[in-house]
Amino acid sequence: MLPEFRSLWENTLGWSPSLQQQQQLESLYQGISTKNRQLNLTRLSEPEAFWEKHLWDSLRGIIPLGWERITTASFIDIGCGAGFPGLPIAIALPEARVTLLDATRKKMVYLNKLIAQLGLSQVNTVTGRAETLGKDSQHRERYDVALLRAVAAAPVCAEYAFPFLKVGGIAVLYRGRWNEQEQAALNQALNQLGGMIWQVEAFSTPLTESKRHCLYLKKTEPTRDLFPRAVGMAKQAPLGN
Ligand code: SAH
Repeated sequence: MLPEFRSLWENTLGWSPSLQQQQQLESLYQGISTKNRQLNLTRLSEPEAFWEKHLWDSLRGIIPLGWERITTASFIDIGCGAGFPGLPIAIALPEARVTLLDATRKKMVYLNKLIAQLGLSQVNTVTGRAETLGKDSQHRERYDVALLRAVAAAPVCAEYAFPFLKVGGIAVLYRGRWNEQEQAALNQALNQLGGMIWQVEAFSTPLTESKRHCLYLKKTEPTRDLFPRAVGMAKQAPLGN
């Protein structure tokens, strides 16, 4: 069973799950742990580690955006893997629309089952590369918020994310460490992509006090047709280097 940690939620994020949300978080945990060994989705199966690294961390990232602003927003989780941070966010924001994107088909087949089990009717999945779907008119410039956790270096994430965002939209990059050189490279990439760093947040996780950073990038101009470049280019020749 997952711990409830009601006052920890309240004290750290100003939010705590309703009874229904707690049941959904529990089903998410059970679903992931059961499949874990087979698919190697995540190594975190201890309930407290799962709570901190997957549930708390996922939701911590959206707090600076403000609850009112995002209640009915459209999110895309790029490189969602087993569904993080997108699934906990979909549970916490039942009126938001959440698209989960990953290149690995077997993960998406599994995620579709899990989403149905959790009754998350506002979540849909897309299988493919960010560089390909970012050119697709069904997805290009359609989202208020793009989420990327542990996907690639920051300039690469920015190139993946910006084509999906509406002008004024925000990309949230979930990271461990962060330093000035990385920030300089990211700023150069954002000049080319038409955006800026809106906020950088440094924080510690509440149970193990691990250091984390979240970067908030604002899209200020429509993305040029050049972006995203061909599959693999963002990684091979990152902007800003
Ligand atoms: N966000 C999850 C998973 C991180 S692992 C978490 O934090 O737990 C990185 C994931 O990104 C992998 O599942 C991989 O398939 C996906 N990925 C990497 N590059 C991608 C790309 N260009 N397009 C789509 N998915 C990508």
